[in-house]
Amino acid sequence: MSTQNFATKALHAGHDVTKNGGTRAVPIYQSTAYVFNDSDHAANLFSLAEPGNIYSRINNPTNDILEQRLAALEGGIAAVATASGTSAIATTLLTLLKAGDHIVASNSLYGGTYNLLSVTLPRHGVTTTFVDPSEPNSFENAAQENTRAFFIESLGNPKLDVLDIAAISTQAKAYKVPLIVDNTVATPYLLNPISYGANIVIHSLTKYINGNGTTLGGIIIDAGTFDWTNGKFPEFTEPSPGYHGLVYSEALDAAAFIAKVRIEGLRDYGGALSPFNAFQIIQGLETLEIRIKKHSENALALAKWLQEQDEVTWVNYPGLDTSPYKSLAEHYLPNGQSGIVTFGAKGGFDAAKIIADKTELFSLLANIGDTKSLIIHPASTTHQQLSDEAQEATGVTKDLIRLSVGLENIEDLKSDLKNAFSIVKQSYLLHN
Ligand SMILES: *Cc1c(COP(=O)(O)O)cnc(C)c1O
Repeated sequence: MSTQNFATKALHAGHDVTKNGGTRAVPIYQSTAYVFNDSDHAANLFSLAEPGNIYSRINNPTNDILEQRLAALEGGIAAVATASGTSAIATTLLTLLKAGDHIVASNSLYGGTYNLLSVTLPRHGVTTTFVDPSEPNSFENAAQENTRAFFIESLGNPKLDVLDIAAISTQAKAYKVPLIVDNTVATPYLLNPISYGANIVIHSLTKYINGNGTTLGGIIIDAGTFDWTNGKFPEFTEPSPGYHGLVYSEALDAAAFIAKVRIEGLRDYGGALSPFNAFQIIQGLETLEIRIKKHSENALALAKWLQEQDEVTWVNYPGLDTSPYKSLAEHYLPNGQSGIVTFGAKGGFDAAKIIADKTELFSLLANIGDTKSLIIHPASTTHQQLSDEAQEATGVTKDLIRLSVGLENIEDLKSDLKNAFSIVKQSYLLHN
């Protein structure tokens, strides 16, 4: 299986047709619980003496195929699916950390993640220092005695900064903490963070992997490479009161973390993925390679076109020659740089707001990674609760428009933007 190429694994990994009644499509196992042979069988399942299904909050055969498939595509040893990308991040951090622990995170993060780290987790005693990930040694310099994780996005949303994952992984190794990478925007087709030293990879499956804006989901993938016995993680080396004295590092070895996510994280926080949603996400995942190639091609073409427009002051796309991340993109994202483009509207906040309001093919909404093109003006919508400093740190300027470039014909996308630009011009003529 592991010698197969991406497109083949995306269609087949984890699905043994002989074990699923010969169904060529992955079936939906819409069952809350599973019949035990007898009480001894149940006891063996609960004590992990025997593998098997107990209850769909913990495990489900449809989810299992999605988990195996994404672990194969990212080069991990195992994965756990969750109800959303946010649930994947929260479940990972809540499984790993306790009050008093500390995280070092990139300052260029998805708005929801930024809030979790900066506002919500501190209420539970877990604090975060945000650093500029483009500064050399910034993670190591911010690490404290109680630091227990480094957290980054491989391709930041919406700053579109490409991170030097290998360099950050070296700092994580020196500090003996796991490097957690949210790989949502890049997708496993364009980038595999584990091959550059990431220990845990997270995706919002809601975005490109499902791909058509119908379904929420998330995944936690364990590289199986982190040494939990290094003295900083007693929850893995001492008997767990949360699982009748199980010592994770002894009983589960390389799979200690991902097993704890499933049998404690899903059990206690409950963020399980619905098997119906797992089925929907599998349909999307089958065509990820051809879609993300086309998203990347359309985004690059549109970014180049935007650079030539009078109404646009700057364009940010990692594939452009003018991008400060061009050389990192050539190294980490040689097969495409995904479908997100940001640009500055001449006329600032007001002009940007009009453009977002007046496009028709580009839908005004808060999402990315849909087959349909999407637009948003973050300063007046998704990021309006953030302070000016926080907006700046996350890369959101007043004039910034974010596009999620879909799979429509590129000429139609240009016409739609051109039309919105001309409305801005007219409104300026009328008001001046
Ligand atoms: C959307 C997104 C998330 C959150 O995922 P949900 O499925 O919406 O909960 C996390 N990280 C990134 C980079 C995202 O784009």
